[in-house]
Amino acid sequence: MESKLDIPLFIEDPDRIPTEAVPENYVAYTLKHQEALPPVTWSNWYKELHWLHVFIIFVPPTLGLIGAWSTPLRLKTAIWFVVYIHLTGFGLSAGYHRLWTHRAYKASKGLEFTLAILGAGVVEGSIAWWARGHRAHHRYTDTDLDPYNADKGLFYSHIGWMIFKPRRKPGPADVSDLRSNPIVKWQHKYYLPLAFTIAIALPTAVAGYGWGDWRGGFVWAGLLRLVVSQHSTFCVNSLCHWIGDKPYDDKHTPKDNVITAIITMGEGYHNFHHQFPMDYRNGYKWYQYDPTKWFLWTCEKLGFATHLKTFSDNEVQKGELTMQLKRLRHKQEALFWPSEKSDLPVITWEDYQRQAESRALICIAGFIHDISDFFDKHPGGPHLLKKNIGKDATTAFFGGLYDHSHAAHNLLAMKRVGILLGGAPHGLEEKAVPPSQHLRVTRHSELPSPGNEYSEIPP
Ligand SMILES: [Zn+2]
Ligand SMILES: [Zn+2]
Repeated sequence: MESKLDIPLFIEDPDRIPTEAVPENYVAYTLKHQEALPPVTWSNWYKELHWLHVFIIFVPPTLGLIGAWSTPLRLKTAIWFVVYIHLTGFGLSAGYHRLWTHRAYKASKGLEFTLAILGAGVVEGSIAWWARGHRAHHRYTDTDLDPYNADKGLFYSHIGWMIFKPRRKPGPADVSDLRSNPIVKWQHKYYLPLAFTIAIALPTAVAGYGWGDWRGGFVWAGLLRLVVSQHSTFCVNSLCHWIGDKPYDDKHTPKDNVITAIITMGEGYHNFHHQFPMDYRNGYKWYQYDPTKWFLWTCEKLGFATHLKTFSDNEVQKGELTMQLKRLRHKQEALFWPSEKSDLPVITWEDYQRQAESRALICIAGFIHDISDFFDKHPGGPHLLKKNIGKDATTAFFGGLYDHSHAAHNLLAMKRVGILLGGAPHGLEEKAVPPSQHLRVTRHSELPSPGNEYSEIPP
């Protein structure tokens, strides 16, 4: 069937699809036509391990923990551990992520070179490999073309996607800018010796030459620092899609959370980041913990970084408002509201008066209210209610006797049982509509616009 449409069986690059051949949904189309390896199961998992990744992820913590057993942590080495975790972390967050993957700013050659070297110390592959996967992650978030699809579970999005051979290639993403970047090419070419030097040799040498703690430098600043750095970054793909709120959009899994921001050097405002990926900040608000944002701001002041990109506040706030309205709508729908006019029986003035002889009915602002269960609860006493039964008490309610509170008006509206034929002479909106309904969250499809052919006005 598909061959008649002259669409290639698997579209390698969505940017080069001829317009007439564009499928309805690229991801669904590709997943249907691209062959994937069989899933990893309990019976085949050991055959599907990616041994290089297994080595990188499991050997450093094993050696580090064995070493820590017999290697006391000296104060200077502990301080070096913290300093070095931030330096290499900036290589990943400010370099790999915000500079090369998202082009959130322009870096001087000196800064770019430094970040390329430091980033290698987290041993998560070269910039070229990492940015390729991360661009696919943003482009195909929460689908099988996303290399660390969060919908496949916390373990998968944390390390599962690396320790097993991938079931299919990540979705195509344009990395032509990185292919022509000389620093990215250089780092890719010398990645293995660079990674070993920066991850292990350099921190060991600093502690060794600096204060004679060769063993501590190797175990703490080298191995264990590497493990913490790696899992901190892995958390961006796992925890940042699991824990937190969605203040800007709820279409996909990314979330904002201060704890994950602390764990990941500021990358935890991941809901914002997926909405505005080219913004140099992940923590959009000035007080949000994002040391990478502060680092880049400082680099700009020192002249090492320029063109720090920020998304328009107007658009950011639009996203924020949409999510706030969704929450308010949810709250609105959970409450009980007065009967709509169209649901109430229409009765004549004579009928109202006749029925009021045997039932405690009061007419206010064109609505008939049954107040028989309210006599004892009326703060002004039952006598004021009794004397208005069968009458039009609109003026009395709105100031003639007492100018009732908004809460009283809201409560009154809950007691509506009918509507007076011909309405009320006091047909002012603020009297007929209770204060709780002056402002309401309404879906576009519910708006009674004449041009809205999709309008579904509730009866
Ligand atoms: Zn993400
Ligand atoms: Zn990103």
